[in-house]
Amino acid sequence: MKKDVKSSSPARWGENTKLVRGGLDRSPHGETSEALFLNSGFVYDEPETAEKRFAGEDDGYVYGRYGNPTVSMFEERLRLLEGAEACYALASGMASVFGALACQLKAGDHLVSSKALFGSCYQIITNILPRFGIRSTLVDGSDIDAWKTAITKDTKCVFLETPSNPTLDVIDLAAVCEIGRKAGASIVVDNVFATPILQKPLSYGADVVVYSGTKHIDGQGRVLGGAILSTRKFKEELLKPFLRHTGPSISPFNAWILLKGLETLKLRVLHQSQAAKGVAEALLGLKGVTRVIYPYLDSHPQAALCRRQMEAGGTMVTFEVEGGKAKAFDVLRHLELIDISNNLGDAKSLITHPATTTHRNIGAEARAQMGITDGMLRLSVGLEDAEDLIGDLKQALAA
Ligand SMILES: *Cc1c(COP(=O)(O)O)cnc(C)c1O
Repeated sequence: MKKDVKSSSPARWGENTKLVRGGLDRSPHGETSEALFLNSGFVYDEPETAEKRFAGEDDGYVYGRYGNPTVSMFEERLRLLEGAEACYALASGMASVFGALACQLKAGDHLVSSKALFGSCYQIITNILPRFGIRSTLVDGSDIDAWKTAITKDTKCVFLETPSNPTLDVIDLAAVCEIGRKAGASIVVDNVFATPILQKPLSYGADVVVYSGTKHIDGQGRVLGGAILSTRKFKEELLKPFLRHTGPSISPFNAWILLKGLETLKLRVLHQSQAAKGVAEALLGLKGVTRVIYPYLDSHPQAALCRRQMEAGGTMVTFEVEGGKAKAFDVLRHLELIDISNNLGDAKSLITHPATTTHRNIGAEARAQMGITDGMLRLSVGLEDAEDLIGDLKQALAA
């Protein structure tokens, strides 16, 4: 007999159980692992069934762009983990960021965002949305007074990323959500760096949470994907009408990879966070390293907030070397274990020079404003032994 997981209150399960069994919807074959439904269309026994589905009277599947059983399992598992009412999976993290904003904004609307943003989020807010008449104000995310000044009664939406990329600035979610709420704005949080394991923005008053599944959720460098978590009302009234017709659907195969990635997400993120803290502490004492940024270091400018808001410091460590770009490139060239890559959240440790890669397009002025220097390196700590990573960094810095 197929066990009906829905009858045993998955919402009350512990997080580990949710990650392994949430959303499980076995076919009549009783497969152990979740099935991959790699199909684009669906057939109906009777014309009346098709009619009912198109009328919305029967919630069965109609077409891959509208939904798929494997995609639904991924959405349900992530929804349970986040504690959200609804989840909508998409083709990438950027499709999710864009979808979450574009579905609710129109010409004349005003958006307020933190200025330390992932490069493509910055492009959407400063270049793409303005073409559709959506104005925006960028603020220093850690300055609560700046949020208070920027958010007015005209502000429709607030967007922020915490910790930010690559400077790991942390924004006080409770404080910004309260300001946004009072103004009647919808608050969208890009929670990629923190992951749903370390930080739950909805519990601080956010309305919408977006993820790049490409990062920690897959965590093994295989596929692109993303998701938007929201209320049921937001999904039904804003997301569905916008996304179903614009088409940034996730492939069922990618959703299946992400679904399986969720099973080990907590183990990986907690383990990688612990290793990242060890690496950050080791970097502090190394010659030639002028600054180390990590949310759980006492030297982080918002150390108390980091510990209050995040369950651990995360998997990312940012540091600065003396000697600018030339020395930073030198360190990259000498690394033997850690790979040069702009991706993050992977089982393999990856390092990038933000000024010439992820944050190249925004220009020198915007980089300076965000505190991104030429000697800055961003390290995504993987699942290797921390001692090996520290050893690799040591030899590369000394070379
Ligand atoms: C990677 C990333 C995105 C975009 O995700 P993709 O899956 O690459 O489209 C958005 N925000 C942050 C913070 C990211 O790190």
